[in-house]
Amino acid sequence: MNICIIGSGLTGLVAAYHLSNTADVEILERSPDIGGCLASYDHGPDTAIEKFYHHCFSGDKYLFQLLEEIGIRDRLAWRKGSTGYYVDGAIYPLTTPVEILRYPHLSLVDKIRLGLLVLGSRTIDAETLDDIPARVFAIRRCGEHAYTSFFEPLLRSKFGDMHDQVSAAWLMSRVSIRSNRGVEGERLGYLDGGFQVLIDRLEEDLTARGCIIRRETAATALRRTGEGWQVNGSPCDAVISTISPAALQAIGGPELAPIPYQGAACMTLGLAREVTDGIYWVNMKGDAPYGAVIGHTNFIADGRYGEHIVYLASYYRGSVPERLEERMLADFRTRFGVGQDEIHWHRLAIEDAAGPVYTTGYRRLIQPYARAGLYLAGMFSAPNYPERSMEGAVIAGRAVAREVLGTVA
Ligand SMILES: Cc1cc2nc3c(=O)[nH]c(=O)nc-3n(C[C@H](O)[C@H](O)[C@H](O)COP(=O)(O)OP(=O)(O)OC[C@H]3O[C@@H](n4cnc5c(N)ncnc54)[C@H](O)[C@@H]3O)c2cc1C
Repeated sequence: MNICIIGSGLTGLVAAYHLSNTADVEILERSPDIGGCLASYDHGPDTAIEKFYHHCFSGDKYLFQLLEEIGIRDRLAWRKGSTGYYVDGAIYPLTTPVEILRYPHLSLVDKIRLGLLVLGSRTIDAETLDDIPARVFAIRRCGEHAYTSFFEPLLRSKFGDMHDQVSAAWLMSRVSIRSNRGVEGERLGYLDGGFQVLIDRLEEDLTARGCIIRRETAATALRRTGEGWQVNGSPCDAVISTISPAALQAIGGPELAPIPYQGAACMTLGLAREVTDGIYWVNMKGDAPYGAVIGHTNFIADGRYGEHIVYLASYYRGSVPERLEERMLADFRTRFGVGQDEIHWHRLAIEDAAGPVYTTGYRRLIQPYARAGLYLAGMFSAPNYPERSMEGAVIAGRAVAREVLGTVA
């Protein structure tokens, strides 16, 4: 049996990992790098830095199982992730209970209601909130002021103009996952050497088993031929697509549910000094052309990079906003008082299909693993609802491989 996998992101690599002992697997990847959203830049010997900031969470059971199987679990280290909020020119730390109590932009009543929402998020069944807008839910639970001064800027920075359409299912699952914290902050995992270690190890493993990974080879034409398929004119018994339903349709795939996707534009900067007051994750309130400033070296703070690494995170719909790189850089320099000579380097990573927008009713758009004779797994699959993640990619890759083995083999 020969199988063609479209896309070498984590879902595609994991699907190949579970299939390549039994089948001949070929992966097509349009980019020079593999890993998709989890791809990295080189940063000196044995150190890579993700193009898009990444960490994992303590509940990522299947990801940890995979790390164990491929022999890199010992590279996983747990760290504290501190958070803050940038409001009107100042960074307010919001990690410890004392810092939260001191935060001046919410009243005590707002804070108590927010605290109750966080506690409630741990037991609520997020899926039951799929048809309720996040805005309606948050106002009902925490009041108008807490919504406009706290939640709305966060939703805007993550979903832009579609922030009003996002479901409470997404909001509450996000609150739940980000509230796994002690008094010193959130407990987050990171692989020594970066998540590139995971991508490299999967590639080694797959190559050793005869799997072929074709870089810079986009799937451009998909065609049904009797019982099988042709991808770019080459025949195969089964196709697993890990790309967005719209991208699949554009190359000849079936019409699938119109899942709204958004793009991510993420700037990574190597700096001479620290700029976020020692905080890992600073959300931005206001009109900056990025929604968060992520002090990576305040998370991985052991000096391994020999400089400070900061990400500026932004999302967009449609095409990349005009002059984004220039505007991000200029705004960051002004707001954080960073001189040109303090910036060693910067790079902007763009990904048009960086994740679905979890609008109300999204659950009904989730795609099954098999559809119209094709196999589908990716950010649009059930394990990535109501938020896409590495864990979701690992589960979806494994599940689609099982589906293929159960039907085609
Ligand atoms: C900014 C950002 C931050 C994130 N942070 C975290 C985090 O902290 N923790 C976490 O758990 N998750 C995080 N994620 C989510 C996680 O990275 C993704 O859920 C996961 O990597 C998705 O893997 P995938 O294989 O499904 O999709 P992708 O990684 O998108 O892979 C799809 C692949 O298909 C390729 N492709 C597209 N079209 C074609 C074509 N026609 N032919 C061939 N190849 C094609 C693409 O180039 C890509 O390599 C983050 C994502 C982003 C964007």
